[in-house]
Amino acid sequence: MIPAAFEYYRPKDMAGVLSILEEQGDDARVMAGGHSLIPMMKLRMADVPHLIDLQDVEGMSGIDLGAETIRIGAMVTQHDIIEHEPLASVAPILREAALQIADPQVRYMGTVGGNVANGDPGNDMPGLMQCLDAAFTVVGPDGQRDIPARNFYEAAYMTAREDEEVLTTVTIPMPIGGYAYEKQKRKIGDYATAAAAVQIVNDGGTCASASIAMTNLSDTPIYSEAAGAALVGTSVDDAAMSAAVAAMLGDIDPTEDNRGPIAFKKHVAGVILRRAIERAWSRA
Ligand SMILES: Cc1cc2nc3c(=O)[nH]c(=O)nc-3n(C[C@H](O)[C@H](O)[C@H](O)COP(=O)(O)OP(=O)(O)OC[C@H]3O[C@@H](n4cnc5c(N)ncnc54)[C@H](O)[C@@H]3O)c2cc1C
Repeated sequence: MIPAAFEYYRPKDMAGVLSILEEQGDDARVMAGGHSLIPMMKLRMADVPHLIDLQDVEGMSGIDLGAETIRIGAMVTQHDIIEHEPLASVAPILREAALQIADPQVRYMGTVGGNVANGDPGNDMPGLMQCLDAAFTVVGPDGQRDIPARNFYEAAYMTAREDEEVLTTVTIPMPIGGYAYEKQKRKIGDYATAAAAVQIVNDGGTCASASIAMTNLSDTPIYSEAAGAALVGTSVDDAAMSAAVAAMLGDIDPTEDNRGPIAFKKHVAGVILRRAIERAWSRA
């Protein structure tokens, strides 16, 4: 399908972006890789009379590895994440998750900022960022603020970002311990039926901390504090994993759709989380 007519803008800096957003109000939307927004415009599910392309805006494409944090510019693509060896060596879960998003063509264009700002419960990076306790920096007419990923998602396509704010950076505390991103999908290139991000710390055979988030099992990503807590202080044995799965099932709220009925999704969520915990623990 062909989208409705729109004005196209390509500013060189953030001041230019913000001034168009202020001028055009609700009629304007930023575009990053366009691989979620353009299909929505073509399907006439998004009406965007003024489209602001972020491609030329300076300073949004860097990956900076600090001593304690990783800073990823919003325009860094999923392909950039996969290719960046220093990043993969300190935070391999990012590459593991990015490799499970769509296909290479989508990953060349799809950005980290677009993936986390979109608010689609099917996107993989929101849950991943909740697991890693990332923060999103947004800039708007009133300046800059940081929003924890765990507080960012309010409902499907509704986030704590205001319409006139642009997400510029994702900041992640340097990950420690074992990790896994496990995803069940119907075929290559598909969104998750269920996916789990797990980060876990092993202190002499006992779980010292565990962070767990789930994808596409509610209208937002689900950070399950209770599931992580069920593992802490245990040797991550079968009983502890069952307790974590039970806690996670209490936090998610899947709906029936073309990926299956609710009971099936809950079953898959349990299988996927168990696999993710086992893999993360084996790496911890
Ligand atoms: C065939 C196909 C399969 C896919 N499969 C998966 C999958 O399995 N898992 C997955 O996670 N994703 C999947 N995607 C989505 C893909 O990863 C998208 O590229 C991504 O979700 C959005 O990134 P983008 O840069 O293309 O954003 P865009 O499409 O440009 O933007 C998406 C939304 O975010 C907003 N936005 C973008 N950047 C910013 C910013 N910096 N600040 C504020 N708002 C912003 C836009 O206004 C828009 O509302 C798939 C896409 C396709 C086409």
